[in-house]
Amino acid sequence: ERPRVLVTGGAGYVGSHVCKALSAAGFLPVVFDNLSRGHRRAVRWGPLEVGDIRDPAALARVLTRHRPVGALHFAAFAYVGESVENPLSYYDNNVAGTLTLLNALTLFKVRALVFSSTCAIFGQPGTPVISEDLPKNPINPYGRTKLMVEAALTDAGEAGDLRWVALRYFNAAGSDPDLEVGEDHDPEPHLIPRVLMAARGRVGALDIFGSDYPTPDGTCLRDYVHVCDLADAHVAALNRLLDGGASGVFNLGAERPISVLEVIAAAERVTGLGVPVRQADRRPGDPPKLVADSARARSELDFRPRFAAIEEMVEHAWRWQQTNA
Ligand code: UDP
Repeated sequence: ERPRVLVTGGAGYVGSHVCKALSAAGFLPVVFDNLSRGHRRAVRWGPLEVGDIRDPAALARVLTRHRPVGALHFAAFAYVGESVENPLSYYDNNVAGTLTLLNALTLFKVRALVFSSTCAIFGQPGTPVISEDLPKNPINPYGRTKLMVEAALTDAGEAGDLRWVALRYFNAAGSDPDLEVGEDHDPEPHLIPRVLMAARGRVGALDIFGSDYPTPDGTCLRDYVHVCDLADAHVAALNRLLDGGASGVFNLGAERPISVLEVIAAAERVTGLGVPVRQADRRPGDPPKLVADSARARSELDFRPRFAAIEEMVEHAWRWQQTNA
């Protein structure tokens, strides 16, 4: 019997790719997901328990049934724009939900937790690349909810209740190259899938949110990191905790700044299609530049992105869209 791990939000985009990697590494991922954003068909490597992290009784049932050796926590709302429009639902799900989960894990003596965090906790630091210890001044509610959870984890860890790793993703992108799972948001706000949908004529012209940023081509720079590379980092983080390693925070990116226009150009090369575009206003909450310094993850989690080129991420996302349209 393989060791079981609880994966909240395991029916979602990053969570489902992590389940595949966990299974390949010898674990049995037990997905706990309310399916509000995730998909039943994305749960392929272990059981699905439908439930909400804000429901202590549902958590207790699942923890009693499966007795996991550790947990990975993805269940959260994760759209910057939506968090600006509807902040209280973000605080409720991301903060209150996580506290309910942490209480349940403590009760059941699950003491190893990998948490899905984000570069949005930094806001816009004044340095070209972002290392772990820079000041955290999130500029949107989404980032604030994730920073609050990191604070709770830090304090719980110091009180001796928990060992944890927070992985701060920059821009998760791409899809499983085997096409077993992929990116399926509805609505889909993320740049790469939207660019590909625009290329296929599904969404009209792609809005470019701001062309007057203080960047070389005027559009925002992001650090796109392949979801399968993120998945490998989660397995490494879990193994570190199960081997008795210390708690910690890690920034995960491919460490390359890519502009909105560069994503569009990559999509045109990969698809051979033109992407219709339209200049639009800046989107509230968007910082001009977010690029990771992942040196700590490279040295402590052996983080070595296999798919660091934007073309590979766009190519895998494109294959997924073509087979799952
Ligand atoms: N973006 C855009 N048009 C879109 C979607 C996104 O110009 O239709 C821009 C967005 O303003 C940001 C970048 O693309 O600068 C990445 O946005 P995404 O929503 O993919 O990720 P985020 O950085 O918000 O997590």
